[in-house]
Amino acid sequence: MADIKAILKNLKIWRSLKVRLFVIIFLVGSIPSIFVRVGILENYESRAVDVRTSDVQTQLRIIANHLITYNYLQDTSSEMIGAELEQLSNLYNGRVLIINGNLKVVKDTYAISEGKTIISEEVIRCMKGVNTVNYDAVNGFIEITVPIVETVSAQMATAEVPEGTEVVRGVMLTSVSTDSIVNTMELLNRKALIVEIIMVFCIFAIALILAQILIRPFDRVSKAISEVKEGYTNEPVSVPDYLETEHIVDAFNSLLERMKALDDSRKEFVANVSHELKTPITSVKVLADSLLAQQDVPAELYQEFMVDIAEEIEREDKIINDLLALVKLDKSAAQLNIGVININDLAEIILKRLRPIARKKNIEVTLISKREIIAEVDEVKMSLILTNLVENAIKYNKEQGKVDVTLDADHQFFTVEVADTGIGIPGESLSQIYERFYRVDKSHSREIGGTGLGLAITKSAVLLHRGSIKAESVEGEGTVFTVKIPLTRVLV
Ligand code: ADP
Repeated sequence: MADIKAILKNLKIWRSLKVRLFVIIFLVGSIPSIFVRVGILENYESRAVDVRTSDVQTQLRIIANHLITYNYLQDTSSEMIGAELEQLSNLYNGRVLIINGNLKVVKDTYAISEGKTIISEEVIRCMKGVNTVNYDAVNGFIEITVPIVETVSAQMATAEVPEGTEVVRGVMLTSVSTDSIVNTMELLNRKALIVEIIMVFCIFAIALILAQILIRPFDRVSKAISEVKEGYTNEPVSVPDYLETEHIVDAFNSLLERMKALDDSRKEFVANVSHELKTPITSVKVLADSLLAQQDVPAELYQEFMVDIAEEIEREDKIINDLLALVKLDKSAAQLNIGVININDLAEIILKRLRPIARKKNIEVTLISKREIIAEVDEVKMSLILTNLVENAIKYNKEQGKVDVTLDADHQFFTVEVADTGIGIPGESLSQIYERFYRVDKSHSREIGGTGLGLAITKSAVLLHRGSIKAESVEGEGTVFTVKIPLTRVLV
């Protein structure tokens, strides 16, 4: 059994659903027809033997009565009985033996055993009044014994054997041939076999067609998927014939959608990167060209243009650095350099670094530590998060504004809240600010040195720590960014 399984497993053709369906339909269709044929034949045989036996028994019983009437057991000269026996043996192609009470054969229609004594189990049982029937299917005959019974009359009655008692005087032993039954069965078998072969052929054809039809939706699925693969179409695939094909197709369509979204975002990113990198270079070129186009340019003008050119180059450098930081964050998903960090100290250092910038706009930056926070984080990435958020809170603030950085924790997470009194973010932009190169006011952001990558970097770093970031804002009043990060490293 295990061998058959192993062979089937290695057989490539057996791995085809179409072949399996065909085999199953064919077997389920044809096996019953074989059973039906065998069953009908067997049933016919036993019925035919029963009918033949009961016919012969009836005849024998009639003759047995005659035998008693004509006292045949003592005197076998009765021609009428002889003719009856002859007729019976001719009719059923059989042999009749009449055995008397001493087990001696008084008449044999074959005239072979007359005068002989027969001691067989059946005869002895029959002497006790039991009918016996033996069917020998191999040699093709039925052996039947019938007792020759006499009812004791008034004259014959004695004290031991009262009147009306049935006494067995002898036995009729008959064997009738079943050749005619066998012949009929052979004929029947031949006809049934022809019908069966025709049926098997029909079932073969039906199984072939059904397997082909049933498998068709799967062929359609693979055809549709190949079409998408080869680029003929980008439309979602639809094969609703079976629930199974629908599931496969649904899974494929969502994969397709995901791939499309990835592809779109990649295209958009490349377009944005090219555009952002081109802008400072175009400015540099315009500045340089205008200097070159003039003759006898005064040194102050050179100076002034060179400052602008240096600024543009610095911008280009900033964009490239931010891009590199972003790419690095994408790559190092599993490579966080986790350490046990005091977040309060880290925030203090970062604010110290940023306060000089804030002072230029008279912005007051305050750190509010509600409790001491020791967390398992990547220090460099945590610095990026804090720096970007506080930098933005300063950049997009008003003169004399305020920035409050609040640190708090529960037993599971610590939170960093950066609240400013700046220009705010319009509600419809709140969901987009984390996109790469997204800026609410492009020209304003560029003016103050924004690249549009800061929050994208921040969000990536937060997600790497399995944390979350959210922003709430009232336009013209200020914005609050809240970052929530697990205190201990969450293993994936
Ligand atoms: P940028 O380098 O332009 O600052 P960011 O990704 O850091 O890029 O921010 C994206 C945009 O979100 C900014 O251009 C700005 O319009 C808006 N933004 C970010 N932080 C603030 C804030 N604290 N107040 C108002 N607007 C903000």
